[in-house]
Amino acid sequence: MVEDLRGEPCRPSILVVDDEPRIREGCRIVLSEQGFDVELAAEGKSGLKMIEERHFDVVLVDLMLPALSGLDVLERIRARHPDTVVIVITGYATVEHSIKAMKNGAFDFIPKPFTPEQLRIVVAKALEHNRALADIAETRSRLRVMVNRLMDGVMTTDSNKKIVLANPAFLHMMGYHGKGVIGQKADEIIENKTMLDLIDKALELPASSGSEITAQLEENGGDERIFTARCAPFRSRTGLTMGTITVLNDITALKKMDKMKSDFVSMVSHEIRSPMTSVMAQLKVILDGLAGDVTGKQKEILERACQRIHSLTCLVSELLDLARIESGLISQEKQTVDMAQILREQVLLHSETAKAKNIELTLEIVQDLPKILASRQSMEEIISNLVTNAIKYTPDGGKVVVSADVENEYLKMDVSDTGFGIPIDELDSIFTRFYRVKNQQTRNIIGTGLGLSIVKSLVQAHYGSISVKSRPGAGSIFTVRLPLAHT
Ligand code: ADP
Repeated sequence: MVEDLRGEPCRPSILVVDDEPRIREGCRIVLSEQGFDVELAAEGKSGLKMIEERHFDVVLVDLMLPALSGLDVLERIRARHPDTVVIVITGYATVEHSIKAMKNGAFDFIPKPFTPEQLRIVVAKALEHNRALADIAETRSRLRVMVNRLMDGVMTTDSNKKIVLANPAFLHMMGYHGKGVIGQKADEIIENKTMLDLIDKALELPASSGSEITAQLEENGGDERIFTARCAPFRSRTGLTMGTITVLNDITALKKMDKMKSDFVSMVSHEIRSPMTSVMAQLKVILDGLAGDVTGKQKEILERACQRIHSLTCLVSELLDLARIESGLISQEKQTVDMAQILREQVLLHSETAKAKNIELTLEIVQDLPKILASRQSMEEIISNLVTNAIKYTPDGGKVVVSADVENEYLKMDVSDTGFGIPIDELDSIFTRFYRVKNQQTRNIIGTGLGLSIVKSLVQAHYGSISVKSRPGAGSIFTVRLPLAHT
């Protein structure tokens, strides 16, 4: 049963327009029995008047009416009451009349003479159709309200990139106040190149991939805003791309907070670094006996203090590195660098530490390495961190090998060791900030847990990747891949 606006069931209303009293009466009896509200009219004019005065869900109209014909009645109902379903009653079952009526918008036809059962079926079908249409309209209106109320910007295009929908949040984010964008081609109205690229790429996504494309956008409408944009194609049931949906999320406040946090860490680290250097220098003066004799016990205490200050200095410089990465400065530092030379320098630089632990540190460069576009300082930090770790987490007498090669348009660098290895369930976590593996072997090794997260961020800032293979007791291999060509 149909429900009214308050959700209460209301009786479907049906009008029968027929000049034959027998048919009118028959319909009334059959349909009233069904619980419908039935009204009758003997000719077209009075039928139309009744339709003007109230809404009918279904109108059954005889094609062969005196004066105003059934087709005329049908035409006027279709023009003025499109949500009323019309069923024509054909007096003599000519196919042409029925086809004409259907072409003019009749939902169905029922030839005379008809049985009560045939009438019930055709009316039930019409009401079902009505209900489906009402459901679709209701769902559409609910969706429209929802999309319009969203804080996220939503825009959809068809497969020709014509804008079909853009909610108020989207119009506000893109600064289109009061501009008519619906029906316009995205390329003609959207100036943001990243967003246009997203739409193009989403339209090109193969039907088999259920994925979406994401990007970060910046808009300069007076005050700079930063958005994340997610764009996905939507498809028909047969898999045909029908268009795209883009969702914009304003992350300006988050980015600002993140920057404030980084600036704060960077400022504090800076401020701490110089007093610490001076404390260290003064401790060294005492340790070296330049301020008078130092007893064995005092020396031991001072050495421990020096060690602590050294690890604090490491932490501070790693925090400063993180701040540098987060500020995006690295992209401005890129130049053509010779990785083979950097690798040689780094191996040489760490050879003393390796020797002190009786670790064999070697370099294997398989072929002439092409130069890459990168930040020299970042490359040095990546290698230095990995080699330091390999030496730190390898017991005395072990081996560390640094190697480099070209593999599928990538420069591949491995740092492998014969050290303690890493438990499998901790392999993913070691790239997380401040994460350190805690066990018997690593207990006395000093570190901040920041090194690998810095390495990972640096590699990513160069559009590369880092992975690790390791097993406890069997050593570790850290592999960095950097694209040979990128802009
Ligand atoms: P840190 O060395 O300062 O603790 P890192 O971020 O460089 O921080 O490394 C995180 C953790 O990963 C280390 O604490 C260590 O447990 C583990 N790890 C890193 N490199 C190796 C390695 N070559 N062999 C074994 N464990 C390692």
